[in-house]
Amino acid sequence: MMSEEFRQQRCAIYPDRVAVARCPECGLYFSRECITEHEGRLICATCLEKLAKEERPEGRGFHLPLVPWLEIAAAGIMVWVLYYALARLLIMIPSEFHEGSIWTN
Ligand SMILES: [Zn+2]
Ligand SMILES: [Zn+2]
Repeated sequence: MMSEEFRQQRCAIYPDRVAVARCPECGLYFSRECITEHEGRLICATCLEKLAKEERPEGRGFHLPLVPWLEIAAAGIMVWVLYYALARLLIMIPSEFHEGSIWTN
């Protein structure tokens, strides 16, 4: 029943081609060549480009912490790890010097 509706419809980009799907974003009919699957939906190239542009700032926000305190906490953990590593290194160095002093004496 759906195919009959599409048979009458022509592609919005290439009118000589029969439309196979309707874009849920712009509501226009498109041929198989002009429509692509995006997140389980069939979307036209124009709308896909538009969606990709809209998704880009969200993607950027996903990588960087949105909450400032989370960034501070992450930095705090990093400082703590570095401090811990440095403290361990400082503990190790005097012991080496001590061992060395035994050998020289
Ligand atoms: Zn569209
Ligand atoms: Zn087309």
